[in-house]
Amino acid sequence: MKMSSEQQTKFEAWLRSKCSYLKCALCQSVRWKIGDLLLPVQIGEPDTMAPLMAQLVCKNCAHVVLFDVRRVTGATEEAMADPSQTMIF
Ligand SMILES: [Zn+2]
Repeated sequence: MKMSSEQQTKFEAWLRSKCSYLKCALCQSVRWKIGDLLLPVQIGEPDTMAPLMAQLVCKNCAHVVLFDVRRVTGATEEAMADPSQTMIF
């Protein structure tokens, strides 16, 4: 599913704060575009499904980096309710 423009803005702001000089692991490019939100495999009602992963796509080689949207502060409502986002590994 596509990200709303509000989600994109929050995801971009989060990326800038966490990894502002992100380089593609394969081609070393620093040009990215935001991809889609990935939903989990459908088990229950479609209405209850929240996206799990957000794609960031390298504009040069199309390599995709995935982020756990539940830990991206502000990107989804679930992220704010997730108590584990403050854990440090
Ligand atoms: Zn690349």
